[in-house]
Formats: sequence, structure tokens, C-alpha cells
Amino acid sequence: MQLVLIGPPGAGKGTIAEKVAARYKLARLSTGDMLREAIARGTALGARANEYVEAGRLVPQEILGAVVAERLREAKDFVLDGYPRTLEQAEFLSGLPYVELDAVVYVVVPEEEVVSRLAGRLVCSVCGGVTNADDGAAGICEFCGSGRLEPRADDQPDTVRKRYEIYVAETEPVVEYYRAASILRAVDGTGSREEVFARVEAAVKALVASGDDNR
Ligand code: AMP
Repeated sequence: MQLVLIGPPGAGKGTIAEKVAARYKLARLSTGDMLREAIARGTALGARANEYVEAGRLVPQEILGAVVAERLREAKDFVLDGYPRTLEQAEFLSGLPYVELDAVVYVVVPEEEVVSRLAGRLVCSVCGGVTNADDGAAGICEFCGSGRLEPRADDQPDTVRKRYEIYVAETEPVVEYYRAASILRAVDGTGSREEVFARVEAAVKALVASGDDNR
């Protein structure tokens, strides 16, 4: 199965993608995580992407495209989180011979909620687990019990605003692209993690069933 998650920064795509990957036994590819890891390890990709990620701008497709294509070729069954983010990337993905998406889930969260979630977001320095200061998280990670919780560098208010503007301008057209292809469902991304995941699962089931009907 091949899935894509789309939504604004702070919609909870990473958390949902992790659960979806475990539930359907899929490889998870988060381009944001992949880029942060490349930057931390000082790889050639990291060196080229660093200035964009730091500023909250999109990494150009000529830097990112080939790496994503390679990862997906190896994966076959996957959930993609954070890619595609532009029409150019969506068309690139459609052109890969081993990619035939089964479902695109659009996670809808209002702008005010996204901004307040990101302002309080804390990420574990060891396991990458995501929590929120608004839920009382602080200090040491509740998931692995060892990592320190820290804000993400690109979650500063100015950078968040820029990332949101880029999302509206560049990524919302991707929603229309997949809606036109009848492989997209929107789900309400507000509420508890369990509630959101149940909605995502229902959307995936419905899209896979309608895809089967059309084959
Ligand atoms: P994320 O963790 O998905 O919020 O991504 C963090 C940052 O990585 C973004 O602000 C971009 O700088 C970069 N990035 C992640 N995915 C993409 C993508 N599909 N295209 C361009 N840049 C990306």
C-alpha cells in the first residue's frame, strides 16, 4: 500500500505516519526527519539543505527529488509524510514508475491551532518523540525516559509564520491535484491522537475500497 499524508506544519503528520506505518506495516518516509538527520550527520544532502530548513523554506526539488525517488524505490509499500509539498513534487511522484498511490489523507487543522501547537512543541533529543508543553511536558521524554525535550529550531514564531504561508501557497494546490484524481479524503485533525487516528484509518479504508472498485 502507498499512502501520502498532507497537512499544515503542526497537523500531527509525523505522529499519524508512525501509527499508520505500524498498523499497515509500511516504510515511513518523512522528508523533514530525513533532512534533519542528514544535517545532523553532515552529509552532502545535509550541507545543501541546511540553509533552507533553518529558514523554514522549501528545499529545492533538484536537491530532494532523487533521494526521495531512491528511498521509495527501495520501500515499495510506504507512507509519505511531508512530501509532496508542491505541484512540481506531486507531478514528479506521479511520474515514478514504481509509485501508484492508493490514498492521500489530508489532515485539516485550523491555522490558530497549528500556531499554538508549534509554539509548545517539544521533541525528544534521543527518540524523536513529539510532546507539547501545553500538555505539561517538560524535561525528560515520557516515551524513552532518557532524552531531553527541546523545541525544534524552526518552530520559532517568525519561522512558523513563514512555513504556514509557504504551506498555503505551495501545498494547498497539491490537495486540489489529488482531489481531482479522486484519491484524497480530508479528515479533521483536531481532538485526541486516538480520535484523529481512527478518522485516518477510516479514510484509508474508504479510499482503498474505492480504488479496488475502480480496478
Ligand atoms: P517538516 O518536518 O515536514 O516540517 O519539514 C521541515 C523542513 O524540511 C521544512 O520546513 C523544509 O525546509 C524541509 N522539507 C521537508 N519536506 C520538504 C519537501 N517535500 N520539500 C521541500 N522541503 C522540505
